[in-house]
Amino acid sequence: MTSAQSHSTSTLVLGAGYAGLTAAALLANEGHEVTVLESHDTLGGCASFYRVGKCTYDVGATTVSGVVDSQPAGRVFRHLGIVPEFIKQDPGMVIRMGERDVLRHAGVDAWIDEAERHFPGGRQGAFWQELYRLEQRVWSLVQGLTHFPPANASDVLRLAKPSLLASAPLSLGLIRPMDVLMERYGVHGNSDFRRFINEQLLISTQNTSSAAPYLTGAMGLTYPSETYYPVGGMVRPALMLMRHATSKGAQVKFRRRVTAITRQAGSWLVSCDNGETYRADRVVSSIPIWNMASLTDERVRSHFERLSHRFDFGWGAITLYIGIKGVPRLPSQYVQLHLNEPIPFVHSGSVFMTFSHPDDRQKAPEGMTTLTVSTHAMAEDWKGLSPEEYARRKSIVTEAIVNLIRRRMHELDGMEFEHIDAGTPQTWVSYTQRHDGFVGGIPHDVRRPLFMLPPNQTPFTGLYMIGDSAFPGQGMPAVMLGAWNTVARIFDA
Ligand SMILES: Cc1cc2nc3c(=O)[nH]c(=O)nc-3n(C[C@H](O)[C@H](O)[C@H](O)COP(=O)(O)OP(=O)(O)OC[C@H]3O[C@@H](n4cnc5c(N)ncnc54)[C@H](O)[C@@H]3O)c2cc1C
Repeated sequence: MTSAQSHSTSTLVLGAGYAGLTAAALLANEGHEVTVLESHDTLGGCASFYRVGKCTYDVGATTVSGVVDSQPAGRVFRHLGIVPEFIKQDPGMVIRMGERDVLRHAGVDAWIDEAERHFPGGRQGAFWQELYRLEQRVWSLVQGLTHFPPANASDVLRLAKPSLLASAPLSLGLIRPMDVLMERYGVHGNSDFRRFINEQLLISTQNTSSAAPYLTGAMGLTYPSETYYPVGGMVRPALMLMRHATSKGAQVKFRRRVTAITRQAGSWLVSCDNGETYRADRVVSSIPIWNMASLTDERVRSHFERLSHRFDFGWGAITLYIGIKGVPRLPSQYVQLHLNEPIPFVHSGSVFMTFSHPDDRQKAPEGMTTLTVSTHAMAEDWKGLSPEEYARRKSIVTEAIVNLIRRRMHELDGMEFEHIDAGTPQTWVSYTQRHDGFVGGIPHDVRRPLFMLPPNQTPFTGLYMIGDSAFPGQGMPAVMLGAWNTVARIFDA
């Protein structure tokens, strides 16, 4: 440190969401000097929380997956000796379609029975067996792919291992859509099933069956078999990562919005809105690619402008936070509610609801439940509006979703909604800085296969990209995998 305003460190991590905190914890664990800069006044990013009275609301992400030992989040927790408290959900999710509930059982056989009962026709059993087979193969493959997508010739050479070459045919599943697999197993003709699949794919791959690659689609469609409820909220495991990092000497600094990242005299200079500057050998940024262009200059800026141009679409989110006086009895804390009719400004056929667990006193006091609702939105609907028009739209969408829940969730009959609050893409801009409120990463799409996503290594020495706008993309386990791979790269360098 050279003055109150000017600091130096070995590695700067930008952002204290799951990606940034995982990278910081892994680096600090190996004795690396790390400082994390975060613009908000608390941790978590898209998986953060807020409190109203005695209730805690998850702001965005709510479901934990990928925590089995052989999966990316499980591997990080095990490596660091972190043991978050999770409650396995079985069924992993309830999908309410019209008047019926499809129970997304965790067990494969129970789920196939349920799928065959609800969606007759075609070879349902074989279709799901194939998805589970693909999912297993991908998990075992990705653990070894620390230098993927290749960013240079030596990364390409690493891919020439016989075990990886044997898996090459799997990559077909990145350029062919889920529709191909559905047709192959004759399950494509059932329109109810297509709708079921599309809504599940939209929340897991951010795309539908005509464009979502069947390989990542398989991961998305099978994840309810291993879905966990984090006790205390989605931020709890992130807090454990942060505490692990700080216990190993890392510094985490809140209310530091990064305003510029420049290369100067062989190191990186990062400026913050409070006037502080940080000099570092290395910058690991979880700030999305769309924001990076406005923070950088010269060749670095051109690089991120090109990436933003190539990946020019992201979904926005509308979220509702409801404090319920009462404790509904539900088979799962996660309910996907299909819409019977469209809702203005909602660009999906469903809303996703997460109810606090009845025993989770960290999220709600006895006799109360907190509910986070999320659905897909478009940034354009919420940009450049007058304050009156913005408030009008927000109140239309809030009222429509509350009415929907009132009409279709009979488990809540007679329970008062004590607190109702809503978030729009503009809310996400305010709290996470994300350009246009793009959340959930880059939609998976056969036209832009996963191996074309930005790699963690940029062309600029010492600048690495993590987070859900870089490979392997969105979701807590994916960004933790990206952070793991990046740290492996740093130690390799
Ligand atoms: C509504 C919603 C529901 C979701 N549901 C799930 C789910 O159930 N399960 C799941 O696994 N995933 C879910 N996701 C996706 C998941 O939340 C994200 O993919 C993941 O949390 C992204 O982590 P990240 O660290 O890459 O980014 P972020 O969480 O966005 O973290 C980046 C951090 O960087 C900070 N930052 C940004 N700009 C600056 C700057 N200039 N200076 C300093 N700091 C800055 C931000 O404040 C933020 O804290 C959901 C997302 C949303 C929006």
